Amino acid sequence: MSMLSVKNLTVFYENAIAINKLSISVNKDEIVGVIGPNSAGKTTLMNTISGLMLDTKLKEDRRGGIRISIFGSVEYLDENITNLWPDKRVRKGIALCRERHPVFGESDVEENLKISGYLSSKEQVKESLSLVYDTFPKLLTMRRRKAGLMSGGEQQMLAIGIALMARPRLLLLDEPLLGLSPNIQAQLVEAIQKIKQQTNMTILITEQFARPLIPIIDRGYVIENGMFAFGGSKDELYDNPDVRKAYFGVDYDEE
Ligand code: ATP
Repeated sequence: MSMLSVKNLTVFYENAIAINKLSISVNKDEIVGVIGPNSAGKTTLMNTISGLMLDTKLKEDRRGGIRISIFGSVEYLDENITNLWPDKRVRKGIALCRERHPVFGESDVEENLKISGYLSSKEQVKESLSLVYDTFPKLLTMRRRKAGLMSGGEQQMLAIGIALMARPRLLLLDEPLLGLSPNIQAQLVEAIQKIKQQTNMTILITEQFARPLIPIIDRGYVIENGMFAFGGSKDELYDNPDVRKAYFGVDYDEE
Protein backbone atom coordinates (compact mmCIF):
# COMPACT_ATOMS: atom_id res chain seq x y z
CA MET A 1 0.00 0.00 0.00
CA SER A 2 1.39 3.37 -0.98
CA MET A 3 1.88 5.62 1.99
CA LEU A 4 3.65 8.55 0.41
CA SER A 5 3.83 9.60 -3.18
CA VAL A 6 5.75 12.66 -4.31
CA LYS A 7 4.90 13.43 -7.90
CA ASN A 8 6.82 15.62 -10.28
CA LEU A 9 8.10 17.82 -7.49
CA THR A 10 9.93 20.93 -8.63
CA VAL A 11 11.24 23.56 -6.21
CA PHE A 12 12.93 26.81 -7.09
CA TYR A 13 14.78 29.21 -4.80
CA GLU A 14 14.49 32.31 -6.98
CA ASN A 15 15.66 31.08 -10.37
CA ALA A 16 17.80 28.27 -9.01
CA ILE A 17 16.23 24.85 -9.28
CA ALA A 18 16.72 22.71 -6.16
CA ILE A 19 14.35 19.84 -7.04
CA ASN A 20 13.68 18.99 -10.65
CA LYS A 21 10.61 16.91 -11.57
CA LEU A 22 11.32 14.38 -8.86
CA SER A 23 8.92 11.55 -8.12
CA ILE A 24 9.39 9.15 -5.25
CA SER A 25 7.13 6.77 -3.41
CA VAL A 26 7.19 4.99 -0.08
CA ASN A 27 5.04 1.97 0.72
CA LYS A 28 3.72 1.17 4.14
CA ASP A 29 6.24 -0.71 6.32
CA GLU A 30 9.21 0.13 4.13
CA ILE A 31 12.45 1.86 4.97
CA VAL A 32 13.36 3.91 1.92
CA GLY A 33 16.63 5.79 1.49
CA VAL A 34 17.30 8.93 -0.52
CA ILE A 35 20.99 9.20 -1.25
CA GLY A 36 22.66 12.21 -2.77
CA PRO A 37 25.68 14.49 -2.45
CA ASN A 38 25.76 17.97 -0.92
CA SER A 39 23.17 20.27 -2.45
CA ALA A 40 21.37 17.39 -4.17
CA GLY A 41 18.11 18.60 -2.70
CA LYS A 42 17.62 16.14 0.16
CA THR A 43 16.67 18.72 2.77
CA THR A 44 14.42 20.58 0.35
CA LEU A 45 12.66 17.28 -0.39
CA MET A 46 12.17 16.43 3.29
CA ASN A 47 11.00 19.96 4.10
CA THR A 48 8.48 19.75 1.28
CA ILE A 49 7.14 16.40 2.50
CA SER A 50 6.83 17.68 6.09
CA GLY A 51 5.29 20.96 4.95
CA LEU A 52 8.03 23.13 6.45
CA MET A 53 8.70 24.47 2.97
CA LEU A 54 5.32 26.22 3.05
CA ASP A 55 6.29 27.95 6.29
CA THR A 56 9.62 29.03 4.87
CA LYS A 57 7.94 30.27 1.70
CA LEU A 58 5.41 32.30 3.69
CA LYS A 59 8.14 33.86 5.87
CA GLU A 60 10.22 34.75 2.82
CA ASP A 61 7.17 36.25 1.09
CA ARG A 62 6.32 38.35 4.16
CA ARG A 63 9.77 39.79 4.56
CA GLY A 64 10.28 40.29 0.85
CA GLY A 65 13.08 37.72 0.83
CA ILE A 66 13.82 35.03 -1.73
CA ARG A 67 11.03 33.77 -3.93
CA ILE A 68 10.31 30.08 -3.41
CA SER A 69 8.18 28.26 -5.99
CA ILE A 70 6.85 24.75 -5.50
CA PHE A 71 5.24 22.64 -8.24
CA GLY A 72 4.00 19.07 -8.24
CA SER A 73 2.20 17.20 -5.50
CA VAL A 74 2.65 15.33 -2.25
CA GLU A 75 0.14 12.58 -1.55
CA TYR A 76 -0.09 10.81 1.77
CA LEU A 77 -2.43 7.87 2.29
CA ASP A 78 -4.22 8.82 -0.91
CA GLU A 79 -4.84 12.39 0.21
CA ASN A 80 -3.31 15.36 -1.56
CA ILE A 81 -1.47 17.22 1.23
CA THR A 82 0.52 19.57 -0.98
CA ASN A 83 -1.04 22.65 0.61
CA LEU A 84 -1.42 21.37 4.15
CA TRP A 85 0.49 23.19 6.94
CA PRO A 86 3.16 21.23 8.81
CA ASP A 87 1.23 21.01 12.10
CA LYS A 88 -1.68 19.39 10.29
CA ARG A 89 0.72 16.91 8.72
CA VAL A 90 2.11 16.03 12.17
CA ARG A 91 -1.44 15.32 13.33
CA LYS A 92 -1.88 13.05 10.33
CA GLY A 93 1.20 11.11 11.35
CA ILE A 94 4.16 12.65 9.53
CA ALA A 95 7.10 13.65 11.73
CA LEU A 96 10.40 15.08 10.53
CA CYS A 97 13.67 14.76 12.39
CA ARG A 98 15.92 17.34 10.89
CA GLU A 99 19.66 17.21 10.77
CA ARG A 100 20.82 19.17 13.84
CA HIS A 101 17.32 19.53 15.15
CA PRO A 102 17.30 22.39 17.62
CA VAL A 103 16.65 21.00 21.08
CA PHE A 104 15.99 23.13 24.13
CA GLY A 105 19.53 23.28 25.43
CA GLU A 106 18.66 24.53 28.90
CA SER A 107 16.06 21.81 29.45
CA ASP A 108 16.97 18.28 30.36
CA VAL A 109 16.52 15.23 28.13
CA GLU A 110 13.19 14.16 29.58
CA GLU A 111 11.77 17.69 29.50
CA ASN A 112 12.68 17.91 25.82
CA LEU A 113 10.89 14.64 25.14
CA LYS A 114 7.82 15.58 27.15
CA ILE A 115 7.46 18.94 25.41
CA SER A 116 7.10 17.14 22.10
CA GLY A 117 4.45 14.85 23.51
CA TYR A 118 2.19 17.81 24.23
CA LEU A 119 -0.48 16.61 21.80
CA SER A 120 -0.78 13.30 23.61
CA SER A 121 -2.49 12.12 26.77
CA LYS A 122 -0.47 11.41 29.93
CA GLU A 123 -0.76 7.71 29.30
CA GLN A 124 0.48 8.06 25.72
CA VAL A 125 3.41 10.21 26.85
CA LYS A 126 4.42 7.49 29.30
CA GLU A 127 4.22 4.87 26.57
CA SER A 128 6.15 6.99 24.09
CA LEU A 129 8.83 7.75 26.67
CA SER A 130 9.38 4.06 27.24
CA LEU A 131 9.60 3.51 23.46
CA VAL A 132 12.27 6.23 23.25
CA TYR A 133 14.25 4.89 26.23
CA ASP A 134 13.97 1.37 24.90
CA THR A 135 15.29 2.54 21.54
CA PHE A 136 18.06 4.66 23.07
CA PRO A 137 18.96 3.26 26.51
CA LYS A 138 21.64 5.94 26.73
CA LEU A 139 18.97 8.63 26.91
CA LEU A 140 17.51 6.96 29.98
CA THR A 141 20.81 7.18 31.79
CA MET A 142 21.02 10.83 30.76
CA ARG A 143 17.42 11.79 31.39
CA ARG A 144 18.30 14.63 33.78
CA ARG A 145 21.21 15.92 31.66
CA LYS A 146 20.81 19.35 30.09
CA ALA A 147 20.39 18.75 26.36
CA GLY A 148 22.86 21.52 25.55
CA LEU A 149 25.62 19.62 27.34
CA MET A 150 25.27 16.43 25.32
CA SER A 151 27.59 15.28 22.54
CA GLY A 152 26.56 15.54 18.87
CA GLY A 153 25.65 11.86 18.74
CA GLU A 154 23.60 12.05 21.92
CA GLN A 155 21.79 15.13 20.63
CA GLN A 156 20.99 13.24 17.44
CA MET A 157 19.51 10.40 19.52
CA LEU A 158 17.44 12.98 21.39
CA ALA A 159 16.34 14.57 18.11
CA ILE A 160 15.10 11.19 16.83
CA GLY A 161 13.53 10.56 20.24
CA ILE A 162 11.63 13.85 19.96
CA ALA A 163 10.26 12.82 16.56
CA LEU A 164 9.28 9.42 18.00
CA MET A 165 7.25 11.11 20.76
CA ALA A 166 4.76 12.17 18.09
CA ARG A 167 4.25 8.43 17.34
CA PRO A 168 4.29 9.06 13.60
CA ARG A 169 3.14 6.62 10.96
CA LEU A 170 5.74 8.08 8.61
CA LEU A 171 9.06 9.05 10.15
CA LEU A 172 11.28 11.33 8.07
CA LEU A 173 14.96 11.33 9.01
CA ASP A 174 17.06 13.99 7.30
CA GLU A 175 20.74 13.04 7.33
CA PRO A 176 20.68 11.57 10.84
CA LEU A 177 24.26 10.27 10.53
CA LEU A 178 25.87 13.49 9.34
CA GLY A 179 29.14 14.36 11.03
CA LEU A 180 29.04 11.49 13.50
CA SER A 181 31.76 8.92 14.17
CA PRO A 182 31.37 5.46 12.59
CA ASN A 183 30.70 3.99 16.02
CA ILE A 184 27.85 6.41 16.77
CA GLN A 185 26.55 5.97 13.22
CA ALA A 186 26.38 2.21 13.79
CA GLN A 187 24.46 2.75 17.04
CA LEU A 188 21.97 5.01 15.29
CA VAL A 189 21.49 2.62 12.38
CA GLU A 190 20.84 -0.18 14.85
CA ALA A 191 18.32 2.01 16.67
CA ILE A 192 16.53 2.86 13.41
CA GLN A 193 16.25 -0.83 12.64
CA LYS A 194 14.87 -1.44 16.11
CA ILE A 195 12.27 1.30 15.63
CA LYS A 196 11.20 -0.47 12.47
CA GLN A 197 10.94 -3.84 14.18
CA GLN A 198 9.15 -2.65 17.30
CA THR A 199 6.68 -0.14 15.87
CA ASN A 200 4.65 0.02 12.71
CA MET A 201 6.43 3.13 11.50
CA THR A 202 7.36 3.58 7.88
CA ILE A 203 10.67 5.40 7.44
CA LEU A 204 12.14 7.69 4.79
CA ILE A 205 15.77 8.55 5.40
CA THR A 206 18.26 10.75 3.55
CA GLU A 207 22.01 10.40 3.58
CA GLN A 208 25.06 11.43 1.59
CA PHE A 209 26.48 7.94 1.59
CA ALA A 210 24.79 4.64 0.85
CA ARG A 211 27.06 2.34 2.79
CA PRO A 212 25.66 2.76 6.31
CA LEU A 213 22.08 2.66 5.04
CA ILE A 214 22.25 -0.39 2.77
CA PRO A 215 21.83 -2.93 5.59
CA ILE A 216 18.56 -1.38 6.75
CA ILE A 217 16.78 0.01 3.69
CA ASP A 218 14.37 -1.91 1.48
CA ARG A 219 14.75 0.43 -1.49
CA GLY A 220 16.60 3.58 -2.32
CA TYR A 221 16.73 6.54 -4.67
CA VAL A 222 19.86 8.34 -5.72
CA ILE A 223 19.31 12.00 -6.52
CA GLU A 224 21.76 14.40 -8.09
CA ASN A 225 21.14 18.09 -8.74
CA GLY A 226 17.58 17.66 -7.60
CA MET A 227 16.92 14.98 -10.20
CA PHE A 228 16.30 11.27 -10.08
CA ALA A 229 19.56 9.49 -10.96
CA PHE A 230 18.95 5.88 -9.95
CA GLY A 231 16.41 3.87 -8.03
CA GLY A 232 16.13 0.28 -6.97
CA SER A 233 16.11 -2.33 -4.26
CA LYS A 234 18.96 -2.45 -1.79
CA ASP A 235 20.62 -5.18 -3.84
CA GLU A 236 20.29 -3.18 -7.05
CA LEU A 237 21.90 -0.21 -5.31
CA TYR A 238 24.62 -2.40 -3.90
CA ASP A 239 25.37 -4.03 -7.25
CA ASN A 240 25.36 -0.87 -9.33
CA PRO A 241 29.01 0.09 -10.04
CA ASP A 242 28.23 3.82 -10.44
CA VAL A 243 26.40 3.91 -7.14
CA ARG A 244 29.19 1.98 -5.43
CA LYS A 245 31.82 4.26 -6.84
CA ALA A 246 30.09 7.49 -5.92
CA TYR A 247 28.26 6.64 -2.71
CA PHE A 248 30.11 3.89 -0.89
CA GLY A 249 33.14 5.86 0.22
CA VAL A 250 36.74 5.24 -0.72
CA ASP A 251 37.36 1.77 0.69
CA TYR A 252 34.61 -0.19 -0.99
CA ASP A 253 37.12 -2.23 -2.99
CA GLU A 254 38.59 -3.68 0.16
CA GLU A 255 35.55 -5.74 1.01
P1 ATP B 1 23.24 19.07 2.12
O1 ATP B 1 23.61 17.63 2.16
O2 ATP B 1 24.38 19.97 1.87
O3 ATP B 1 22.36 19.49 3.25
P2 ATP B 1 20.91 18.80 0.41
O4 ATP B 1 20.98 17.62 -0.47
O5 ATP B 1 20.11 18.70 1.66
O6 ATP B 1 22.37 19.26 0.75
P3 ATP B 1 19.41 21.21 -0.13
O7 ATP B 1 19.80 21.80 1.18
O8 ATP B 1 18.01 20.79 -0.30
O9 ATP B 1 20.37 19.98 -0.49
O10 ATP B 1 19.78 22.24 -1.28
C1 ATP B 1 19.43 22.04 -2.64
C2 ATP B 1 19.83 23.30 -3.42
O11 ATP B 1 18.98 24.38 -3.04
C3 ATP B 1 21.24 23.76 -3.18
O12 ATP B 1 21.77 24.23 -4.39
C4 ATP B 1 21.10 24.87 -2.17
O13 ATP B 1 22.12 25.82 -2.33
C5 ATP B 1 19.76 25.47 -2.55
N1 ATP B 1 19.07 26.04 -1.37
C6 ATP B 1 18.68 25.37 -0.27
N2 ATP B 1 18.08 26.18 0.62
C7 ATP B 1 18.10 27.41 0.07
C8 ATP B 1 17.62 28.70 0.46
N3 ATP B 1 16.99 28.88 1.62
N4 ATP B 1 17.84 29.74 -0.38
C9 ATP B 1 18.45 29.56 -1.56
N5 ATP B 1 18.90 28.38 -2.01
C10 ATP B 1 18.74 27.33 -1.22
